[in-house]
Amino acid sequence: MIKAKISEIKSLLSTPKNIVIVPHRNPDGDAMGSTLGLYHYLKTYHHNLVVIAPNDYPAFLKWLPGDDTVLKFESQQEDCKDLINKADLIFTLDFNAFHRVGEQMAEVLEASNAPKLMIDHHQQPDDYAKYTYSDVSMSSTCEMVYNFIEMLNDTDRIDATIATCLYVGIMTDTGSFRFRSTTSRTHQVIGNLINKGADNTQIHNNIYDTNSYSRLQLLGRALQNLKIIPELRTAYITLSQTELDEFNFKKGDTEGFVNYALSLKGILFAVIFIESHQDNIIKISFRSKGEFSVNEFSRAHFHGGGHTNAAGGRSETDMTSTIDNFISILPQYKQELSKAHNGH
Ligand code: 5GP
Ligand code: MN
Repeated sequence: MIKAKISEIKSLLSTPKNIVIVPHRNPDGDAMGSTLGLYHYLKTYHHNLVVIAPNDYPAFLKWLPGDDTVLKFESQQEDCKDLINKADLIFTLDFNAFHRVGEQMAEVLEASNAPKLMIDHHQQPDDYAKYTYSDVSMSSTCEMVYNFIEMLNDTDRIDATIATCLYVGIMTDTGSFRFRSTTSRTHQVIGNLINKGADNTQIHNNIYDTNSYSRLQLLGRALQNLKIIPELRTAYITLSQTELDEFNFKKGDTEGFVNYALSLKGILFAVIFIESHQDNIIKISFRSKGEFSVNEFSRAHFHGGGHTNAAGGRSETDMTSTIDNFISILPQYKQELSKAHNGH
């Protein structure tokens, strides 16, 4: 769809504009990598630009080039509203529906008349953007931003800064190039980004080798809490607010924990339930291997969604009833979950 519009977009971008770039709430590596990568690319055209994140993100992303320019809607509402209202063009990256930025910011985005340009790889995108570049087969929004720059015939403009940002999101969304969405094209893009100056070892260290002692202790607790339902090839982890407090939880500390459950031999479906007193919900992350769609599962039962093999959701009851509910739903999927999967 966007390819047909690319010359229109090129001429739109050929004169300086007020541009706002928005990732989803609780931004991850792909959300911040793609928004900042696009930010640095569009800077080469001297646009008046700003990245507005709905809220704050983990410390392991704060070294990203341009981090100091990012505004947070949650703590800077008035400034952010002003910028959104004055925008000539709004890019929405790495999400598929306005509600993914949170209720208050969604209202402001919806009310704005500026044309929107969506770049996203989540399933079932809403139809709010004038220009929609949606492709659920893509590893990451960062790979799509690379494609977008390529469609605009501008890969020459990719410097080490842009390459670094885009590398981050491809690396984090592919679990360091191992998930099914990783294609030979993904590796080609990564190769090009390294040629442009992305320092792969340094980036990996910056993201993954910044553990605090307390985060590793929290991981220890999460693994102790791990439960297995072998006949349904399911494993799940719980973390209560009390446990998070005990280990001095910081944003991002539980990132990746659910993958330990998925790494169990024979397990196809892994879930982590994390209590949040602040939001008064249980936050849920779903992961799967093979055909079992956690996007569908989360949409049907836990107010969320995402991709076939990775999705988020939430529950508004307490931990005990959330787990009871989850366990009561599972047998409906017995057939799907007992299907063999390559290598398992
Ligand atoms: P996580 O479990 O890491 O929070 O999310 C896994 C994937 O699902 C990410 O790509 C995330 O952006 C997406 N995701 C998380 N929550 C939701 C949701 O409520 N709706 C949709 N459409 N995607 C979600
Ligand atoms: Mn993503």
